[in-house]
Amino acid sequence: MIKHSISLPKERLGYWFIVNKGRLYLTTDGQVPHGTLTSLTIATQPEQICWLGDYQQQPCYLLVDHDQISDDSFWHSARSLLAHSEALFELAARALQVALFLQTHRFCGQCGSAMHLVHWELAALCNKCGHRCYPRIAPCVLVGITRPGQILLARSTRHKPGFYSILAGFVESAETLEQAAVREVKEEVGVDITNLVYVGSQPWPFPHSLMTGFTAEYQQGDIVCQPNEIAEAAWFDLTNLPEVPPKETLSGRIIRQLQQKHLNNR
Ligand SMILES: [Zn+2]
Repeated sequence: MIKHSISLPKERLGYWFIVNKGRLYLTTDGQVPHGTLTSLTIATQPEQICWLGDYQQQPCYLLVDHDQISDDSFWHSARSLLAHSEALFELAARALQVALFLQTHRFCGQCGSAMHLVHWELAALCNKCGHRCYPRIAPCVLVGITRPGQILLARSTRHKPGFYSILAGFVESAETLEQAAVREVKEEVGVDITNLVYVGSQPWPFPHSLMTGFTAEYQQGDIVCQPNEIAEAAWFDLTNLPEVPPKETLSGRIIRQLQQKHLNNR
C-alpha cells in the first residue's frame, strides 16, 4: 500500500469520502458523512487518509479501501450526489479517482518495484528506476449536433430503449479535442459536422474521464450507426425530445442549451 499519511487532529470537523471498489459511502439520508475522525464508527489507519479539498470552509478527506462497512445499502455511485450538489460531486469525483490511483499504482509499471507517493504533488514514484506516474485522466468529447429545428441523438448499446443522448467518444493519442469530435461523430453515425463550439467540461469519475462538451452544426451525410456502439440514432425535433440525461450532466446541459436557443429563435 502506498503511504500517504497526513497529520490530522482527531477532533477536527470535516467531510469524509469513504471509497470502496469505486463506490462511495453515504449516510442513510444520502449525505456524505460529516464530523470528526473519532465520530466515524470505523477504525482508520492514518496512511489511508488523503486530503481532497474544502467544502463550506471545512476539510474533505478520502478514506481508501474501506471494506469494514459490510452493509451494501450504504455504498452508492457518486452519481447520486449530482442532483444534490455540484461541489460535492466534484469532491467525490476526486475521491474516487485518487482512490483508484492509489489502488492501481502500488507497483512500478516499468520495473515492478514498490512505488511510493511524493509529498509535494499527487504522484507515485519508483525509487529504483525513477518512473513517475500521475492519476490517469481520460478526455472524452461530447457533441450536440443540430440542423434547423432538430438535434441528432443516439442510444448507446449500453443504454435502455427510449433513452437518448448526444454523441460521445474518447480522445485518442496525439489528437486534438476538435479532431476527436469530428472523428467520433463520423465513426458513430456517419455524418460530417461543422462550426464546432466549445461549451464546457465536467469531471466524470467512471472511472477517470474528463468530459469536454461541444455544439456543432450538421454538414452532410446520412445516419449510419456504428455496429456494437450505437443501437439507434435519429434527428429529433427540439420541441419534442425523448428521455435524455439529467440537466446536471454536461450532455444534459448541452441538450437543454440547444433546445433553449431554438425556442428563443422561433
Ligand atoms: Zn521502477
